[in-house]
Amino acid sequence: MRIDHTIAFRSIITIVKGAKKKLIGKKIKSVEIRVPKMVNFLVKEFKKGSIGAEIKDIRRFAKIIVIDLSNGNSILIHLKLTGQLVYAGPSKIGQIEIEKGGHPSRVYDQPLPHNYTHVIFKFNDKSHLYYNDIRKFGYLKLVKTAEMGERPEIKNLGPEPLDGWKYEEFKTKLARRERSKIKQVLMDQKFVSGIGNIYANEIMFYARISPDRLIGTLTEEEKKKVFKGIQFILKKGIELGGSSENTYVNLEGKKGDFMKYARVYQQKVCKICVGPIKRINIGGRGTFYCPSCQV
Ligand SMILES: [Zn+2]
Repeated sequence: MRIDHTIAFRSIITIVKGAKKKLIGKKIKSVEIRVPKMVNFLVKEFKKGSIGAEIKDIRRFAKIIVIDLSNGNSILIHLKLTGQLVYAGPSKIGQIEIEKGGHPSRVYDQPLPHNYTHVIFKFNDKSHLYYNDIRKFGYLKLVKTAEMGERPEIKNLGPEPLDGWKYEEFKTKLARRERSKIKQVLMDQKFVSGIGNIYANEIMFYARISPDRLIGTLTEEEKKKVFKGIQFILKKGIELGGSSENTYVNLEGKKGDFMKYARVYQQKVCKICVGPIKRINIGGRGTFYCPSCQV
């Protein structure tokens, strides 16, 4: 099954929410790094800079999870395509509380740690945080908290659409991409953070604009509708807990309900005009739209 970026990103909001509840205030007792590549081969540095520190805060920058420590360092975690974070709480009356966040896979459904567990944090209260990754594309990086804004991983991210992004800024950026297709530009993470394929499809439907329109052909009115659609669809996505299609489980253990909302993505019939939904390819991604409702 192809894993959509959208799934990873929107659910990262829920992972961060869950991780905040579970991890803030805990002290890192030890870190076991089973696959040095996950920390860019800086095993000693990673351990030295994290063991003994307390978790102060957990934040998110687009798809990057940031764990701020009490010693002035932060850990950046990117799950990439198959990374997963699993929290296992201290056992209470014989019960082990487990929360998962990240990408699903049947191979992950086995006792922890397993063959795909590459990094294990142990906390002072005997709880654990496991980093699992089948394909090992993800990373954990230790950086100075004060220098984080200068890190290329953070610095090159596009604006956060729900965080005070202004229409004028959107319009100015669009003007530089007049010959590109609108849907493809929305999915460019340097243009704006966090719009994956499912959301991009739904934004275009919300705006009633065909996803293959060139930006240069959009009227002022249409650009406004796209901008409004970005806000509406992303808020909807958060409200419904991410866009997990079948098996994805966020840190709170619930499947996202966004797919129940989807108007065009993987749909056959338009919910407005009852005409057929058409599927095309834009930039190699499955694109769904209603040729009657979207112009
Ligand atoms: Zn329609």
